[in-house]
Amino acid sequence: METQVKDRKIETVGAPAGIEGPGFFATSLDKVVGMARKNSLWPLPFATSCCGIEFMATMAAHYDLGRFGAERLSFSPRQADLLMVMGTIAKKMAPVLQQVYLQMAEPRWVLSMGACASSGGIFDTYSVLQGIDRIMPVDVYVPGCPPRPEQVLDGILKIQELVQNESIRRRQGPEYKMLLSKYGIE
Ligand code: SF4
Repeated sequence: METQVKDRKIETVGAPAGIEGPGFFATSLDKVVGMARKNSLWPLPFATSCCGIEFMATMAAHYDLGRFGAERLSFSPRQADLLMVMGTIAKKMAPVLQQVYLQMAEPRWVLSMGACASSGGIFDTYSVLQGIDRIMPVDVYVPGCPPRPEQVLDGILKIQELVQNESIRRRQGPEYKMLLSKYGIE
């Protein structure tokens, strides 16, 4: 056990692209902020049904979401920056979900996990929201019913890619404001 721990290769996140020389390293603020945000996501799991169980497997030791710097789950929207919606969202639940989204501080990202959250899934009925993108902008969709933990990890990697490459000015731009206004969000 001790030997295994001793021999285990532990890697740290590399520095962003930049210019380096003897005694100095220079890069842009965007890249540093992107690197920090990418590797310290605080997800808020909004789980209403079976996809939530699959997410629990993703968090557990075998798949270990912590390897991606996202093991600190938050059940308080104000201390979260990644909303993960998993499960069927009834229409009467929609305003609650939107309220949770609004309580999250910018910058915030949304991952829709599974067929139900993304499109209503098999529940094409009067009472079920046919996709959370009717009430909030979604950054990444993870398909499946339920998606396997590998797919959830793939979704997290896609979110990390977006987070890393997002300009720190994007949230103040007119395009982002226009996007939010489509959902009635000021
Ligand atoms: S997508 Fe399938 S597994 Fe996920 S909540 Fe809907 S019915 Fe359940």
